[in-house]
Amino acid sequence: MRILNRREFLKYSLTAGAAMALSACENMPEQSNQPLSQNTEHAKGRRKVVIIGGGVGGATAAKYIRKADARIEVTLIEPKISYTTCFGSNWVVAGIKDFAGLEHSYQDLREKYGVKILHDSVTQIDPDKRKVITQDGRNLYFERLIVSPGIDFHWNEIVGYTEEVSYEFPHAWQAGEQTKLLIRQLHAMRNGGTVIIAPPRDPFRCPPGPYERASMIAHYLKQHKPRSKILILDAKDSFSKRTLFLQGWEKTYGYGTDHAMIEWIPAAQDGRVLQFDPINKTVYAEFGKQKADVINIIPAQKAGQIAHSAGLTDETGWCPVHHRTWESSKIPHVHVIGDASIAGGLPKSGYAANSEAKVCALAVVALMNGQQVRVPSWINTCYSLVTPLYGISVAMVYKVNEKDEIYAVDGAGGVSQSDYDGVAGNKLAEAIYAKNWYENITADIFH
Ligand SMILES: Cc1cc2nc3c(=O)[nH]c(=O)nc-3n(C[C@H](O)[C@H](O)[C@H](O)COP(=O)(O)OP(=O)(O)OC[C@H]3O[C@@H](n4cnc5c(N)ncnc54)[C@H](O)[C@@H]3O)c2cc1C
Repeated sequence: MRILNRREFLKYSLTAGAAMALSACENMPEQSNQPLSQNTEHAKGRRKVVIIGGGVGGATAAKYIRKADARIEVTLIEPKISYTTCFGSNWVVAGIKDFAGLEHSYQDLREKYGVKILHDSVTQIDPDKRKVITQDGRNLYFERLIVSPGIDFHWNEIVGYTEEVSYEFPHAWQAGEQTKLLIRQLHAMRNGGTVIIAPPRDPFRCPPGPYERASMIAHYLKQHKPRSKILILDAKDSFSKRTLFLQGWEKTYGYGTDHAMIEWIPAAQDGRVLQFDPINKTVYAEFGKQKADVINIIPAQKAGQIAHSAGLTDETGWCPVHHRTWESSKIPHVHVIGDASIAGGLPKSGYAANSEAKVCALAVVALMNGQQVRVPSWINTCYSLVTPLYGISVAMVYKVNEKDEIYAVDGAGGVSQSDYDGVAGNKLAEAIYAKNWYENITADIFH
């Protein structure tokens, strides 16, 4: 295989994210002050990239490095045989999608792009010897390492909500068995039951996610258990697309009336949950105690465990990086992308992780080839469904300034129109875009 030139790369890059990354490269001045020397690496002739985590960030980076320069050997280390997307997992609750439709195999990455897939877990990163050590005792050497391990949780910050308890009362914030369990619990719930959702403090994976989950559960309950109720007990006073969600809930779930199916209690109204008693299925919020039939606590979050043990995190619990390359500002030659990284204005979303991964992939290829890293830009769109036929979104384009800070480009994004009565058709169109987005992004990551 040969290196693709820029025109060919653009041709093969089907999503807006890749196109954005490259078009920005063409339009902006080149970066001159790279954090690391490039030529010495090139001279050593090592051609190996290791990637930790075969989720959105890791899988995208693997594919795009191989597309940009197939002389580079890429090994993707991921314990799971297939990847289950978190995005779309709320839709399974509402019966819009099958659980099996969330699962994606690594076959195309292996066979079409020549990525070496290793089903194992990294337990240690040795930056001096530039190697990782896996649970099965393998040593893998790298010239550049990309770390995309997703999130881990602050257990017991809500007293009583431990990892062990989460197997019975699922957070379902890493899609898989816990998603299935939450759905089984909702199916088993009586008509007239109460569901509690407790979203975490910022920052966390998928800012609109808990509220889309409330919407999808409400859609299911409205059809099957209409006397039931969802209480959102929030650690915050606002949330992503709040106006749009509240309007959607008013229209479809009686929000704000005596018969509301969804009630949202923000921190300012003492909604924050402090403690959980699993035996009595009771949460203790600042306003007092509340019993429920199904309880979905989504704990506060931090970078995936390996980022902590490797020393890639700072006091925030997330990983600081140089944004033009996503190289760690703590450990040279190690790049961190996706939810685990500190990404300025970019949200912790799958779309953002995909966009970051492409920028990182091109930077890694440039650094390994002794070329200059170009100035990138990023794109993010987050769709949410209020009902299967009612979608809303937030979209933004991001650039990086000379201080290496990522900023949202004025006028280059926004949220759906909020006057839904006047533009009801847009909500249907956005629901269709949401489903198409799922197909496009998973094709871009895995196929
Ligand atoms: C309910 C829900 C709905 C969502 N909806 C949307 C949406 O509509 N749009 C959107 O853009 N985003 C959405 N997201 C967010 C999106 O899923 C995440 O932002 C995205 O998955 C982040 O990618 P990542 O690569 O950082 O982490 P992940 O995709 O979680 O991948 C991390 C991978 O690393 C592996 N790993 C961890 N540690 C190790 C180790 N030591 N060794 C080897 N492998 C390891 C894990 O097994 C995992 O496969 C949603 C999230 C949730 C929970």
